[in-house]
Amino acid sequence: MEMTTVRKNSLALHDDQLCKYCGVTLPIMTIFSEGTVFYAQCNCSEAVAQREREDAARQEQTKILRQHEEQRRLARRIADSGVPARYRDGVLSGFDFSDNDKSRKTATDYVTNFSTNAKEGRGLLLIGDVGRGKTRLATIIALHAMQSGYSAKYVAMASLFDRLKSEFGGIGGDILNSIFATGLLVLDDIGKENTTSWSESVLFQIINHRYERLQPTIITTNLGIENIQARYRQCGDAIVSRLFETCTGIMLTGPDRRMEPTR
Ligand SMILES: [Zn+2]
Repeated sequence: MEMTTVRKNSLALHDDQLCKYCGVTLPIMTIFSEGTVFYAQCNCSEAVAQREREDAARQEQTKILRQHEEQRRLARRIADSGVPARYRDGVLSGFDFSDNDKSRKTATDYVTNFSTNAKEGRGLLLIGDVGRGKTRLATIIALHAMQSGYSAKYVAMASLFDRLKSEFGGIGGDILNSIFATGLLVLDDIGKENTTSWSESVLFQIINHRYERLQPTIITTNLGIENIQARYRQCGDAIVSRLFETCTGIMLTGPDRRMEPTR
């Protein structure tokens, strides 16, 4: 039998001891030494129905609070991700693939199977000319991952190295650690940065760190594969071989070309 708690310091009869629906006098269940009295709950149909309504309302309230908490957490995750405000409202169904069904299918499959892709460290390589929506598509996928409970980080290559230099006089520990640790990393526009042997080795370190730990990375670029190799003279081959092994290619302009995934 459920019990209702009534704090009273007197054992005299009072309204709480009467069922407010059927008026029956309820028996005392327990009296604690400090005077708290527990009365039995009435089992008349009105009292039972009222308790059921209250239970349902409490459950609904709990559900709403949980949804609000999830929304807050998601908003915080998105705010922390570095995804620019301009790209925070993207949805895959709204993305213009310019009738490229293969690219659409690759992107859709990647999002649909994200948890498996995340576990296996599988990423995407988005290749296309300026203005073809590489950043848009990459951030849409990152938003999707965050909505599924993953953390994500958006990094614009053009500004990464200035940020690293300004942090701790060039050590860049916090920024790099957050890049290493995030659930899904977006490296936007590789090749756009001012390439030095330092920047090249940092890029390789990032790609290799995530490669070795099976962490998914989405890379966008307007460089072709051979141009990536040419651009990064020290680590180009190693970078490309890791990308080939872990990323599926999506062409956002020109002929569609899907890199064969190898596992
Ligand atoms: Zn009653």
